[in-house]
Amino acid sequence: MKERNPQKTLVMKFGGTSVGSVEAMKQAVDIVRQSKRSWPRLVVVTSALSGVTNLLLDSAVRSARGDKDAALPAAEALTARHHELIDSLVTDPARGALLKEEIDLLIADFASRCQAICLLGEATPRALDAVAGMGERMSVRILAAAIDSAGIPAASVDSTSLIVTDDCFQSAHPDIEATTRQTRRVLEPLLNQGQVAVVTGFLGATPSGVITTLGRGGSDYSAALIGAALPAEEVWIWTDVDGVMTADPRLVPGARTIPELSFREISELAYFGAKVLHPKSIRPVIEARIGLRVCNTFNPDHPGTRLLAEHSNQSQHVIKAVTAIRNLQLITVEGRGMLGVPGVAARTFGAVAATGTSVPLISQASSEQSICFAVPVESTEKVISALKNTFAQEIARRDIDSIWATGEVVIVTVVGAGMRNTPGIAGRIFSVLGENNVNVIAIAQGSSEVSISMIIDAADIHRAVQALHALIV
Ligand code: ADP
Ligand code: ASP
Ligand code: MG
Repeated sequence: MKERNPQKTLVMKFGGTSVGSVEAMKQAVDIVRQSKRSWPRLVVVTSALSGVTNLLLDSAVRSARGDKDAALPAAEALTARHHELIDSLVTDPARGALLKEEIDLLIADFASRCQAICLLGEATPRALDAVAGMGERMSVRILAAAIDSAGIPAASVDSTSLIVTDDCFQSAHPDIEATTRQTRRVLEPLLNQGQVAVVTGFLGATPSGVITTLGRGGSDYSAALIGAALPAEEVWIWTDVDGVMTADPRLVPGARTIPELSFREISELAYFGAKVLHPKSIRPVIEARIGLRVCNTFNPDHPGTRLLAEHSNQSQHVIKAVTAIRNLQLITVEGRGMLGVPGVAARTFGAVAATGTSVPLISQASSEQSICFAVPVESTEKVISALKNTFAQEIARRDIDSIWATGEVVIVTVVGAGMRNTPGIAGRIFSVLGENNVNVIAIAQGSSEVSISMIIDAADIHRAVQALHALIV
């Protein structure tokens, strides 16, 4: 591992809402100003303005369906929002005018890509990544100019020159060695000159330069990768809530900030739906022994959440948080002939994997007569048809009786490292769900015993999350 620079290095990431309006971006610039005082080497990773990635992707999808004017209203809205930021935050008019030209070119590029997609009648994952990435390519230029206008020397950097990935579009995997090399090569000279490097989140590129993205919400991952590559002392994720909370505050109004969490706990939380941190962002910071903090752009004095390498025994809470993943269906493969037949599970998940679907939860009845697992609603049809093909013979022989999907379900997960040493916790969880009339369809417990997950009907999500949250006292 490379020696750390004797001068301290900090990587900060601003999410979409943190740069999504003039007020928010002013606040972000202020945070950069404050942080630069204690951190001479500062990298700022930014998301697209809130809502922009959705707007870009939605236009591309509508173009693919034949709407040749799909990009027009989007282009208008994008121009208005980005120009407003430039007018308010870039003090030098000549620089502002040049920047507007750059933004207009990116928007024109977006519109022509949508036209091409419309003509082809298809939006390939590669085309979608090129379109989705426009949001960060616009925001990074404006944020860098706004920081610079505030008297803090800053330069914008497209992470396509830092993050080297494979061509698994829409969820590309970084090549860590190449990314480390490139990140240092491009960022070190800027940091050594005392400039703030303002870098696009979310984006990478293949070795031949084709734009890729790291997956939705992937800017957190970009910050972690850059932090690990330099390496930085700390990575701070600036978002729109006071850190990682006991539940999504949109689901549970009484949710509270969790001041400290172990990496294992945060991994379970992120994996099981706490959108506040991308699950992939945790591994790079653990491996490089980097401090991670999640904090609120709109309440910067709040300490937020600190991640600890190990579970601290100081917390008095056995259950620390409750999370949920929505928009799932549970698929069951069942049949009396499955009993003891080796390889059924391997063939099942082989068939699922071949459809490109990831499975957040699996549960098998001990009688071995059924396997069930959750998949995103939009994948259900293709997964069932792949399974019916794979098991055509077993179905004909009646060894497998049926392959079917439930209605919409959610996974609700309870997280807390203290659960491992607390007998009876599962009993309390199921009693509270029962008392609240929530039917549990399937259960899975992480082998680390840091989490217990339950599949429940989608209609019960509020009742279940609120009832389980009440167990955190
Ligand atoms: P950003 O754009 O800053 O990356 P995100 O929308 O991706 O922000 O993530 C922040 C959101 O995550 C919060 O506004 C909150 O609604 C949601 N969230 C879900 N679960 C949690 C949780 N346990 N703690 C905090 N926020 C959560
Ligand atoms: N802008 C991207 C998204 O909306 C990445 C991010 O915000 O983290 O998914
Ligand atoms: Mg996010």
